[in-house]
Amino acid sequence: MRILIIEDDTSLVSGLKKALVPAGIAVDHETSGLGALGVAPSEAYSLIVLDLGLPDLPGQDVLRRLRDNGCEVPILILTALGEVKDKVRCLNLGADDYLTKPFDLGEFEARVRALMRRSKGRPAPALKCGNLVFETSSATATLSGKPLLLRRREMAVLAVLMADAGKLVRKERLISEIFSFDEPVAPNAIELYIGRLRHKLGADGPKIRTVRGLGYLMEEK
Ligand code: CA
Repeated sequence: MRILIIEDDTSLVSGLKKALVPAGIAVDHETSGLGALGVAPSEAYSLIVLDLGLPDLPGQDVLRRLRDNGCEVPILILTALGEVKDKVRCLNLGADDYLTKPFDLGEFEARVRALMRRSKGRPAPALKCGNLVFETSSATATLSGKPLLLRRREMAVLAVLMADAGKLVRKERLISEIFSFDEPVAPNAIELYIGRLRHKLGADGPKIRTVRGLGYLMEEK
């Protein structure tokens, strides 16, 4: 799961990332409207968070251009208090929800999750592979009914493999879904998470097969 935040206030974005990344959500960040219009069509985002007060273009214009270009990704608008009057216009232009600054991070995360659940192509609320169950709404996993203690990136890798259980998941896809553009990725990072997951799934859980040179495949035991 990957979202795009279009917001010029970088300290606000750092706070938002702290709420999202531990939940296994990769965050890309653009500080300008034109920059965002450039990247939005090229990535499979589950959600776009759009600030109305951007330095180059009004957020309303960014919203209208995204929708005019056929972008169907849910869009959550962030407005400063004085811009609240614009919210109806934004909803009419195709926004899905809005939040007025300042807002509570818990409320932000809840709205993000609600919109992502409605997003096209979202994973089912619970993913299953044999005796392993992953609840996407709470980002928790159980193996034979017992909670599986996973770190956030292990959880994110697991969710991607489970959503496509039985099929090859390419390593590049795992990297793009789990890391943001601005995060350094160690060459063996994915191998490391896969190794930890195999250890935690143990002998009784589903198997993660390595497809040499291509990626990984999860299958029931
Ligand atoms: Ca702003």
